[in-house]
Amino acid sequence: HEPARPDDAPRGRLTVLAGPTAVGKGTIVTELRRRYPDLWVSVSATTRPPRAGEVDGVHYRFVDPDTFTRMVAEGQLLEWAVVHGRHRYGTLRGPVDDVLATGRPALLEIDLQGARQVRAAMPEARFVFLAPPSWEELQRRLVGRGTETPAERERRLLTARAELAAAEEFDHVVVNDDVARATDELVSLMGAAREVG
Ligand code: 5GP
Repeated sequence: HEPARPDDAPRGRLTVLAGPTAVGKGTIVTELRRRYPDLWVSVSATTRPPRAGEVDGVHYRFVDPDTFTRMVAEGQLLEWAVVHGRHRYGTLRGPVDDVLATGRPALLEIDLQGARQVRAAMPEARFVFLAPPSWEELQRRLVGRGTETPAERERRLLTARAELAAAEEFDHVVVNDDVARATDELVSLMGAAREVG
């Protein structure tokens, strides 16, 4: 557990980063962590099996479906969703609360359904939508990534089309035209350089 903040210190602010599949959320978060190793980023629970190179507790907490169901029933998740019609993903409430209580910022990288749930639960959070420069570029990135089967790719593109329209629900839209530039913009929105840099 994190040390408690003094009673008069403000709570940290939560930033929620969402955006369509393959827009580069993971890349931006990796770049943020490289620049600010002290920035706290939530590790989601998921029922998806690990991909090659993914480490339990670092990229995700990989859990079986029964465990996930129990976590939901026990109220352990701040939000959760079935993403791309298949696996469940969710944010653990306890660690987020602990970090914010210390006055530090925290970052969630989640899907649109999850962002909407967080907005309902924590309207004071900052909601940032990561957008592709264009629809064509988003398709190129998804194909180039090569981690999905063609059927899975089609499913994700369908979701992405609907998700692009949701940008207007967010406080800020950051266009991921260039990783360094988009990261700069996110850092400045979060005040991350000041708070953890
Ligand atoms: P992937 O399977 O490629 O790692 O992630 C698929 C999608 O799940 C991404 O769009 C990512 O934003 C979303 N995701 C990851 N963790 C969470 C979470 O805790 N909650 C929600 N709602 N979505 C998540």
